This record gives sequence, C-alpha cells and structure tokens, in this order.
Amino acid sequence: MAINKVKGTYDVCPNESYLWQRLEEEIRALMKLYNIKEMRTPIMEYSEVFHRQSELSDMVTKETYNFDDRGERRLTLRPEGTAGIIRAYVENKLYASGELEKVYYIGPNFRYERPQKGRYRQFYQFGVEAIGAIDPALDAELIILAYDFIKRLGLKGVRVRINSLGDEDSRQQYHHALKTHFDPHMETLCDDCKIRIDKNPLRILDCKIDQNHPALLNAPTPQDYLNTDSRHYFTSILEHLHMAGINYEIANRLVRGLDYYSHTVFEIEADIEGFGAQNVLGGGGRYQKLVKELGGPDLGGIGFAFGMERLLMAIDAENVDFAKEPILEAFILTFQPDYRSLATKILFQLRQARISCDMNYTQKSFKSQLKQAIKQQAKYLIIIGEDEYKRGVVGVKNTQTEVQDEVVVAKVPKYLKERLGK
Ligand code: AMP
Repeated sequence: MAINKVKGTYDVCPNESYLWQRLEEEIRALMKLYNIKEMRTPIMEYSEVFHRQSELSDMVTKETYNFDDRGERRLTLRPEGTAGIIRAYVENKLYASGELEKVYYIGPNFRYERPQKGRYRQFYQFGVEAIGAIDPALDAELIILAYDFIKRLGLKGVRVRINSLGDEDSRQQYHHALKTHFDPHMETLCDDCKIRIDKNPLRILDCKIDQNHPALLNAPTPQDYLNTDSRHYFTSILEHLHMAGINYEIANRLVRGLDYYSHTVFEIEADIEGFGAQNVLGGGGRYQKLVKELGGPDLGGIGFAFGMERLLMAIDAENVDFAKEPILEAFILTFQPDYRSLATKILFQLRQARISCDMNYTQKSFKSQLKQAIKQQAKYLIIIGEDEYKRGVVGVKNTQTEVQDEVVVAKVPKYLKERLGK
C-alpha cells in the first residue's frame, strides 16, 4: 500500500521547485546588498530553547513537536527561527566582537496547527535577526529591508503596520492596565485567557477564540502607556521610515504572537487577490530579554520572518512576472537508438562547455523525442540522422528561427556557445 505524506506537509515537485530556487536567489541577492550573512542552525533544539517560563504563546505551549530522543533528552522541532539563532549566537559567543551581528536564515519550521490553505505543519521561513544593539535607526533598517524585499517581489499595495509595546517599564504599566480592564470580564473569557490575565494579559489580545469579545475590542492600547523614552524611541523610528519614504501606518492593537517582544512590533502587508485577512506576509519585532534568557549578555535585538509558502502564493495570485522556468539550451534527437553513444559524447562535451542539454532515454520514435524537446522548450535541437551519422556531422536547429545548419560533431560546442552568447 502506498504511504501518504504526513498531514499538513507537502511535496515540492520538479515542475515547481524552480519557483523556490528563484525566491531563494532573490533573498540571497538582497542579503548581499544589505551586508547580511547567512546562519544555519539545527531544526531540533533542546526543548528549553523554546519552552521558557516567560513564553506563553500558543505556538510554544500548544503547537510544538516535542519528543525524547534515544538518550532521553527532551527535544523540540523548531516552531520559529529566532530562539535557535539566539541560542547559537550565545553558544558561539558572537557577541564577543562587540559589534552588531546581522544574520539571515531560510529553513523549515514545525507547528502542530490545523492545516488549511497557506497554513502547514512544516513550513519555510526566511528571517533576519540583528542582534547586539538598540537604536531606532536599526529598527528602521530592518523594517525598510522587509518592505524593500516585498516590493522587489513585484507585489502591489505594500505597507508596514507598526506599533510599540514600549520598554519594560511601559510594558509593566500596560500589563497592569490590561489586567484591570479584563478582570471584570474574567468569567466570560475562554479558559486560556483566564490564565493569561495573571501571567500575560497581552496574550489575550491575540486570542483566536475571544477575538470578537467586546472586552477585547475596547481594551486599552500599548500606545496609551508608553513612557517618555519609549515614546521618543518610537517617534524616532517613524521619522526614519518617513524619511525613507516607506508606506506605513500605526496599528494601535498590534501585539504579535510572541511574548519576547518589547518596543517595536511590525507586519508587512500587500494587496493580494483572494487573500483576504491572509494578506500579512510576515512580521517581527524587537526583543530585549531573549539573549539574556538564553544565557547570554544583556543585549537586545530585532528580527522578522516571512512565510515562504505564502510569498509564493502571493506571487502566483498576482501573476508577477517573477519566475521564468529555466530553459534548456539544447536537446538531442536520434533517428536510431544506436546513435545514442554519439549523443552521450555530445552531451558530455556540451556540459563541459556549460551548455544545458538533455536527450530522451525512454522513447524510441523520433516523433515522441521531438515532443519532449518541445515540452522542455529547448532552444536548439541537435539531430542525429542516418546520413549525418555516417558523415560525422549533426543537424543543429534553432527552434525559434527554424534555421538549421550542418555542424561537424567536434564543433557543436563552439557553434552553440557563439549563438548562445556564452
Ligand atoms: P510568525 O512566526 O507566526 O510571526 O509568522 C510569520 C509568517 O510565517 C506568517 O506571516 C506566515 O507567512 C508564516 N507562517 C506562520 N505559520 C505558518 C504556517 N503554519 N504555515 C505556513 N506559513 C506560516
């Protein structure tokens, strides 16, 4: 019996993998422009990297894949990128240089969520972290980068939604105000929110069950509780964004899904046909306590992440002229199966000349070989007919102009290199 893929996962088949490669190329090129280097960390970590006392988000408490390995170590498949990067930043003492560390990652995350369109249990994220400094210019830099990235994908109506949760002091004030606000409604809130009131009332604002509860809709906003320093910090970021001409709006109620955020939180949206509320492509925020919580020095950072599947869906929906399937440069057709050894020789020579090429290994008839060549959109056909074979030449046909030349076998690479402009 055939075995199916795990629920909430998907396969990338050969006819779509070029889209992923194209997106990754775009990311890597952009990272060079911003002078950001890649970091690769394991997909599994000791559970305490994610399951920290201060972290009460659903993502960590309800959606992680946890298991004991054969040595009875408690491990977790990473549900997000930041905590693992910070663990590695601390463990590799990247802070020792005293410089800001800017890194990016591309990789799979795992969350036990209810699968639906655009929501998977294994999904990929591209993310950036800038660790070791707190400065409005740095927050602005990351927001501008995230905005720039989405604009480059050719999406329309790109905008930033931004809010500030303030520093620790402001957060405490806000925490207190929310608790006072929600306490009288305790009985009518969901079971999780009843716990959140004491532990982290901010979480209530993100609750999927209570999202339309009247008490949520008229809850105080973090803006009302920013102290002077936090307000200045936020205003300064907005000034930077304004100077750079970024399309942003202040989102009073934005708190984002993780407990480690303070000061800046933001999301990037675009207008995407048929996406509705799923038009949030990614987001992030500043974290001031995470490095210390994971055993490092008292340094802050800021980061963001985009879901790669959602980006590809957006590109697809908007019909962006983004991903052109790579075109094969040459395809060899043989009139007789016996000529395949000559074809093999030519293929090898062409590939040494860095010309992409292929032939058909299963179909014997010339017609079906030709069909495959057309399907592959080959630029040139190399035809080995009976007469040509005997004379040590091949026919080389440009599939666009339909012009066909006779070329001596040994000269085929040179002939094609010239015409392909290589
Ligand atoms: P988060 O890490 O929850 O802030 O999510 C950042 C981005 O990752 C979201 O805007 C989505 O694009 C993507 N994302 C989060 N969870 C999933 C999922 N289960 N499946 C696919 N994409 C996801």
